[in-house]
Amino acid sequence: MDRGITRRDFLNGVAITVGAAILPSDLLDATAMSAGPEKSQDYYPPALTGLRGSHPGSFDAAHSLRDGTFWDSAGKPEDTGELYDLIIVGGGISGLAAAHFYRKVVGERARILVLDNHDDFGGHAKRNEFRVGNALRLGFGGTFSIESPAPYSSVAKGLVRELGIDVASYPKYVDKNLYRSLGLRPHIFFDKETFGVDKLVVGPQTLRGSEAEDTTPEGAEVWKKFYAEAPIAEQARRDLQRLYHEKKDYYPGLSSDEKKAKLARISYASFLKDVAAAHEDIVKMYQALPHPLFGVGIDAVAAQDAWGLNLPGFDGMKLDPAPGKGMNRDAIPNEEADKYFFHFPDGNASIARLLVRKLIPDAMPGQSAADVVTAKANYSQLDQSGSGVRIRLNSTAVRVKHLGDHASAKEVEVAYARGGKVYTAKAKSAILACWHVVIPYICDELPDGQKEALASAQKVPLLYTNVALRNWTSFQKMGANSAYAPGMYHTYFNLDLPVSIGGYECARQPEEAIVVHMMRTPCRPGRPARDQHRLGRAELFSTTFETMERKIREQLARTLGPGGFDPARDIAAITVNRWPHGYAYEYNSLFDSFWLEGGETPCSVARKPYGRIAIANADADAYAYTDSAMDQAYRAVGEITKA
Ligand SMILES: Cc1cc2nc3c(=O)[nH]c(=O)nc-3n(C[C@H](O)[C@H](O)[C@H](O)COP(=O)(O)OP(=O)(O)OC[C@H]3O[C@@H](n4cnc5c(N)ncnc54)[C@H](O)[C@@H]3O)c2cc1C
Repeated sequence: MDRGITRRDFLNGVAITVGAAILPSDLLDATAMSAGPEKSQDYYPPALTGLRGSHPGSFDAAHSLRDGTFWDSAGKPEDTGELYDLIIVGGGISGLAAAHFYRKVVGERARILVLDNHDDFGGHAKRNEFRVGNALRLGFGGTFSIESPAPYSSVAKGLVRELGIDVASYPKYVDKNLYRSLGLRPHIFFDKETFGVDKLVVGPQTLRGSEAEDTTPEGAEVWKKFYAEAPIAEQARRDLQRLYHEKKDYYPGLSSDEKKAKLARISYASFLKDVAAAHEDIVKMYQALPHPLFGVGIDAVAAQDAWGLNLPGFDGMKLDPAPGKGMNRDAIPNEEADKYFFHFPDGNASIARLLVRKLIPDAMPGQSAADVVTAKANYSQLDQSGSGVRIRLNSTAVRVKHLGDHASAKEVEVAYARGGKVYTAKAKSAILACWHVVIPYICDELPDGQKEALASAQKVPLLYTNVALRNWTSFQKMGANSAYAPGMYHTYFNLDLPVSIGGYECARQPEEAIVVHMMRTPCRPGRPARDQHRLGRAELFSTTFETMERKIREQLARTLGPGGFDPARDIAAITVNRWPHGYAYEYNSLFDSFWLEGGETPCSVARKPYGRIAIANADADAYAYTDSAMDQAYRAVGEITKA
């Protein structure tokens, strides 16, 4: 671990990152409108490794707008002369779905321009590709799967069906028992900084919503082994047994509603410490468990939500099973929603790719939802002058305004930055399917109250790291397919979900190359959730890839070293998908009184249409799921197309 990073490692990370960084801006020049980097044969962002997600070069214009410096050096915008029926800002699932819904209402001849600041389409739904020897390995750079805590709406289900995805067929593609059949189980990594010793111990509980999706309840044997091996205090061991088995009512004499009202107002960490008097080691052990769902730990998750998520301590409290006031939607179990699950090897990037196929068939070869998995996108077709729909990447919308008063204007004008220049295009309407925090900076004419509501949608920062390994024999030796690591940089990692589909074959033998998925949420325990997100976002923007690579190598070596893992030998490539603006902020009974006590939600103010401008994105429902991105696109299209 301590040896310097060699050139091979350098190529795997830093150098390729630089390649990604220079790609959009350096190749864009005055001829950008006619050519542009996307037209090059070699333009293929899914295969880039290093720092991806919000990659270098993708956010400079937006941050300069935020800082009030953009127009100082932007120069006079150049008019492209282009006139569209609709311009959509944001090429994520919401923006692409909006283009699709709009064509359904207005007709296939509608002229649509989609702008996105990244070098690839899909927004959070990004595809990562790796070649390890002869093997193609896919990873999800963001949006993991079709899943949602509440059932998909008929609109979202309808779109999924139209794209040819048969959600019920998922069991055909997943080798659900592969890891268990090889003796692998979810584990917990106790680190020496937090627990006094580095130790990998079999984990007795996995939280719903983790990417490993292996939530099989463990039997008594596993609990016994866990109690015997976990490096926690003796008292913590006893307290854990008590929490799971004692069935104590901590609020005797109160009705179920009164208990829920109390639980909605305290964090699960306080519940464990102050109400259930659990040992500090238990709090430390559970601290990061809800990271994959909320991007914060148990200090910022209400005890009522922890009850909904089946965390220990509530069995004796005689709580009525109905959801309590102020519960987070992720914490409300729903059987129908649980069954509606589909994971493509590149996550919901397959949905984005299927949408692109519908909008611009020449850009995405193939016929079915299965064959899209191995289809090679042709980026040169995305922005063709003869095409009804054009997707313009590497283009940040910097100003959206009505030409005239918003109530009577016939057109909107959108200015966008691309390759160091600013261009304008016009349209009859615009849909802002981008992150809500950006909108106040690009659409100055919105009412102040709406801008404030938009700005409150602080997104949850995350790292989704994919590490391509040459083999996973060390996992097999350790008997682990995943590790929850409450004290480490990435608080979860797991072997890729074994899905084979459309000619794509997952790794089945430990000697084969595989992708390991790692997740970090850079939170700051003890502060309100929005502050944690703000600080975490700053951390992600200021951490170099080199530092992240070190952390990754160190963590894998410390966890899997006893199984023979050697980072220098076993790591083939690393892609860190950095999402400083990640999940949509979901309301939380600890910090959002309107969510607990009632009242207008900020997202319902934020998404109000304004003249010819409508607002979509998952942020518009404060719900970090693909169905929300689709539903909000549908609503926005309805608003601008109604007579
Ligand atoms: C790491 C991660 C994992 C997730 N996993 C899941 C999952 O498993 N299942 C699930 O249902 N949901 C998941 N989500 C939630 C995900 O956000 C939604 O499912 C969905 O992909 C959001 O789509 P969207 O179009 O609303 O937003 P986005 O995907 O964020 O797309 C918005 C796009 O607008 C662009 N944009 C912003 N400002 C501008 C501008 N000024 N000009 C041009 N473009 C701009 C952004 O860069 C982005 O590309 C995950 C999110 C993250 C971050």
